[in-house]
Amino acid sequence: MGEGVPLRVVVVGGGIGGLAAGVALSRAGIDVHVYEQAQQLGEVGAGVALAPNGLRMLARLGVSAGIERLGARHVSTRLSLADGRPARHEPHQFAQAGRNVGIHRADLLTLLAERLPVGTVRTGHRCTGFTQDASGATVEFATGTAVSADVVIGADGIHSVLQEFVVEPAEPVFSGVVAYRGLVPRPAEYPAGLMRMWVGERKHFLVFPVRAGRLLNYVGFVPSGTSVRESWSAPGDPVALAAQFADWDPVIGDIIAAISGPGGSGFQWGMYDRAPLPRWSSGRLTLLGDAAHPMLPHLGQGVNQALEDAVALATLLGACASAADAPWALTAYEELRRGRTARVQLGSRRNGAGYDSSGSQLTDRRWIYEYDAWAEAAALT
Ligand SMILES: Cc1cc2nc3c(=O)[nH]c(=O)nc-3n(C[C@H](O)[C@H](O)[C@H](O)COP(=O)(O)OP(=O)(O)OC[C@H]3O[C@@H](n4cnc5c(N)ncnc54)[C@H](O)[C@@H]3O)c2cc1C
Repeated sequence: MGEGVPLRVVVVGGGIGGLAAGVALSRAGIDVHVYEQAQQLGEVGAGVALAPNGLRMLARLGVSAGIERLGARHVSTRLSLADGRPARHEPHQFAQAGRNVGIHRADLLTLLAERLPVGTVRTGHRCTGFTQDASGATVEFATGTAVSADVVIGADGIHSVLQEFVVEPAEPVFSGVVAYRGLVPRPAEYPAGLMRMWVGERKHFLVFPVRAGRLLNYVGFVPSGTSVRESWSAPGDPVALAAQFADWDPVIGDIIAAISGPGGSGFQWGMYDRAPLPRWSSGRLTLLGDAAHPMLPHLGQGVNQALEDAVALATLLGACASAADAPWALTAYEELRRGRTARVQLGSRRNGAGYDSSGSQLTDRRWIYEYDAWAEAAALT
């Protein structure tokens, strides 16, 4: 932002996408506030894999040292068939050794929250409405209060309330897959820097270390005839999960057995996405993260794309000389981001099908990993 009054931005949603946007915007000199519906910031007890494109954005947000400290760098990766034999694949069709970091979602959220100026996040604020006119935008909350801003960013997840002010409301699409995910203490025999995936017919199982290698994140993807409600908190039954992988590599059975032991946890999660949206913005309102492009996790990109969104949007808004330029920035953001994220959304569906047919036709990830969203946005300013 040039001289004069700083741009006022309201972010709705204090998940990883919303907090990353808050950090990126405040570093760009923008007056930003993040409104979260929960009474406290928090994340589910599970890990997330940060890929090179996301790590590049986290470096821009100044949290690389924290990521190295709290995360677990995956110095080796292994893609296996159900019985543990190596699965045939090209080097770029799976996470690459040394380039990914596993981190507990709560640790990532904390690292981002610590980078925000005091008072940026306001919890206990559930957004219920939105209006705008030529002079500004207003966000309404269930508390009966309202705030006004020059720009509003909907980072309110797959069930976004703000998305309905941009496109016709539509339900998320159930993929027919349920994920059992959680954490177990890392067994001594499991290497602290190894990411493993086992692929088979209609199922796959992913394991990677987080929290400096002390914990293992696991996700078992299995078919389900009934659509399970998308939820972070539904408990996942370890007995049902064990039955699904009973005749697979015994390493998987050992990990599942640890879910019921000390320090183990498990949740069940229906896998939903949406078809790419025809647009993300309306006037002073735009969308970010899962609110804009919810995707299946089969390329491990939901958080990584939200981080790209956050840095790209802040770079463009930071280049505005006045609030009058904000619509230009939102248009440039949408034009830059919509095509790429749509490719990742559709690629995630295809890659899941590849995993569930014993690793055939997996996606070459170079176009995802080598991209620098900051450089692409900066080139437009
Ligand atoms: C099984 C599984 C594994 C995954 N693994 C990976 C991975 O390895 N790598 C990766 O990059 N991604 C992964 N993802 C995807 C990733 O979890 C999501 O893409 C990411 O969490 C989206 O972040 P977000 O901030 O956009 O949305 P969310 O995390 O959904 O956050 C939205 C926030 O908005 C708040 N909110 C909602 N409505 C309102 C409202 N009306 N008012 C105020 N606040 C509101 C919510 O409380 C929440 O805090 C995985 C997903 C799943 C399901």
